[in-house]
Amino acid sequence: MARSDPPPPARAGGVLDIDLAAIAENWRRLGARLASPARAAAVVKADAYGLGMAQVAPALAEAGCTLFFVATLDEGLALRRLLPAVEIAVFNGLLPGTSGDFRQARLVPVLNELGQVAAWRDAADTRALPAILHIDTGMARLGLAPADVARLGAAPQMLAGLNLRAVMSHLACADEPAHPLNARQLAAFRSARAALPRAPASLAASSGIFLGADYHFDIVRPGVALYGANPTPGQPNPMTQVVRLKGKILQVRDVDSAATVGYGAAHRMERAGRIATVAVGYADGWLRSSSPHGSAGIAGQRVPVIGRISMDLMTLDVTGIDPALTRPGDYVDLIDEQHGVDDVAAAAGTIAYEILTALGRRHHRIYRGGAR
Ligand SMILES: *Cc1c(COP(=O)(O)O)cnc(C)c1O
Repeated sequence: MARSDPPPPARAGGVLDIDLAAIAENWRRLGARLASPARAAAVVKADAYGLGMAQVAPALAEAGCTLFFVATLDEGLALRRLLPAVEIAVFNGLLPGTSGDFRQARLVPVLNELGQVAAWRDAADTRALPAILHIDTGMARLGLAPADVARLGAAPQMLAGLNLRAVMSHLACADEPAHPLNARQLAAFRSARAALPRAPASLAASSGIFLGADYHFDIVRPGVALYGANPTPGQPNPMTQVVRLKGKILQVRDVDSAATVGYGAAHRMERAGRIATVAVGYADGWLRSSSPHGSAGIAGQRVPVIGRISMDLMTLDVTGIDPALTRPGDYVDLIDEQHGVDDVAAAAGTIAYEILTALGRRHHRIYRGGAR
């Protein structure tokens, strides 16, 4: 066994099953929704939202994706080693001392301020360097302020030597279609574009795609929807499920009424019952904040998490479940078709993004449907 191979399932506490064909299907499905001439890029930052960039990015490239976004330069360099031919853009921008790395690995910096525009222009000697210009239209996080856009519009020579691959912005409230900021950002983006040299435009991430054709422009940048989370909260999930997680039962015990369970004696049994201890805890991304609302599935029945989730373990109340289904070594379903990443997130008081990126490296990983 190579050193980097995952431990066999018998040695791990959880089994994380990642369906690469479902990720490719989600990418195609989003592309099929787009108004012409828009095309879909893929966001694979944070190790493809925790699911493994080394497996996910080649599967997307095989499905036809030619433009990838990452957050950090490190991620961009790692992706370049995986995929020599695709276009790779780095959201976090061109930080001092990094233009050599960007040039050498043919990475496209997302230029977030005028100083970065100048630094990248200085790095362009004989050939024009590709760049994406990020305009802030209401997020106040990264990107050029309106006054910077006006300066560039008045002095387009500031962009000389750059090959503008796109002008982009990012929506703050795309998951709330009725939020008035969506239309305000759309209008601000259109007017910023009009002030700048002509270039392809990109505004929508996963949820923005579902705001309609006005938001599609030339390039959309989905991340979380590729990985099966619902980009339309409150509506049925239009994406295919990607992740399944099972946790292994280590021990089962009968407890008397009034027994307390786990750290802080935070749960007290109201009647005698049975508890199964499962080998998945907060160090596996099973967030401690889901202690009061979390649950697992056993042969289609939901059982509640009781007591606090600890680093390596959680406890389930399996009173009334057929003992033949809860023997040590049996698995419970933590993420599956009936209870997806959005349900797990709701129980933990967070969003699917945080659940996915927290899943961690300790589970035995199974990748299905990968690139041939
Ligand atoms: C993370 C990110 C995306 C992808 O967002 P999702 O909501 O996961 O689709 C797109 N654009 C920018 C600027 C981002 O930071």
